[in-house]
Amino acid sequence: MVDRFDILGHALCDTGHYLDARGHFAGTDGNISVRLPARCSRDADRVMITPSGVRKGRIEPSDLCVMSLDMTDPRGSNCRGRVPSSESKMHLAIYRGRSDVGAIIHAHSPYSVAWACSGLPVPEGLHPEAEVHLGTVPVVPYWMPGSVRVAAQVARTARSPDTTCLLMANHGAVAFGRTLDEAADRLDMLEAYLKMVVALRQIGAEDPLSARNLDDLRKWAKRGSQPQGADEADPED
Ligand code: 13P
Ligand code: ZN
Repeated sequence: MVDRFDILGHALCDTGHYLDARGHFAGTDGNISVRLPARCSRDADRVMITPSGVRKGRIEPSDLCVMSLDMTDPRGSNCRGRVPSSESKMHLAIYRGRSDVGAIIHAHSPYSVAWACSGLPVPEGLHPEAEVHLGTVPVVPYWMPGSVRVAAQVARTARSPDTTCLLMANHGAVAFGRTLDEAADRLDMLEAYLKMVVALRQIGAEDPLSARNLDDLRKWAKRGSQPQGADEADPED
């Protein structure tokens, strides 16, 4: 019988294959985790995470590690000779601060990395999908990848309930969501958005959304559905 643990392991690997095919992971870059529901393990508060140094395009369920949220098992379990991702401290710290988060993906997606190396904030107010699905995307100052400092900084920034994803300066992107699909979609949308912004800067002109249209979009983001009457607002008013 296939249990929930196996289903989540396959879903995590499918997410790795999907995002790898979309160019989010060069070599063995990046890491993916999913929170295990209480009935999957003897204790609640465990996560399944990719091991260090494995290609996400080829990852298999038998490669995955299990770790407890309090990191009492830093070497993980079920790892079959591998070690958990070097960013596991960061993943676990985000889960500890956000009970709504069920999955986390860290990637070195090219446009996200380019923006993360620019020293610029992520622009807002340009595109409806980015306003509704991503919101404000913070940039966390650089700390050594895999360090306790980077884990603490990222988790502190991620704690705000409206944060869907963020950039790690001079490093990459982190997206989270209730499910693996939600986290993957946010990572993909962030990358597509930053690609669009780079093209926009090449064009050299910008026509931001009006305050009124932004207000409607932010209401939509908060409610999870389009506000009544928003389609009647005339952008020329
Ligand atoms: P791991 O292979 O240890 O998960 O590290 C990849 C990475 O992106 C580090 O920031
Ligand atoms: Zn990384």
